[in-house]
Amino acid sequence: MAEKCQIIPKTVFASCETYNCLKPVAWAIGRPDGPPQKLVYFCDQCVRDMVGSIPAELLPKDESVPIREVPQPLPDAKPDTEPDKIYYCKYCGEEFDTPVKIATHTRLCPARKEIENIEKEEG
Ligand SMILES: [Zn+2]
Ligand SMILES: [Zn+2]
Repeated sequence: MAEKCQIIPKTVFASCETYNCLKPVAWAIGRPDGPPQKLVYFCDQCVRDMVGSIPAELLPKDESVPIREVPQPLPDAKPDTEPDKIYYCKYCGEEFDTPVKIATHTRLCPARKEIENIEKEEG
């Protein structure tokens, strides 16, 4: 990189070389192995402005920067868990995830007791 013209962080007691800009120098542009008087000095803001105004033809071409493919999560051969089965109480409609729970509930279901009491009274 040393032989290439580049933007080098540099603090010198001078002001930016941009016309009418008197801010302190934060960057030098040129070859770092060359004589310091051959570098051009700019303040932080001017370099940022410069970088922000790079013409389109100077920007790296899209194809030179391969877009990294987002790794897809591998589909699991087997799902970790069984798809949730839901058991509905046929009396009150409450949901349960295991047969044991619904059996326990059904025995105590208030809606069921109500229905059976009505049936007894009517029967
Ligand atoms: Zn400046
Ligand atoms: Zn119920």
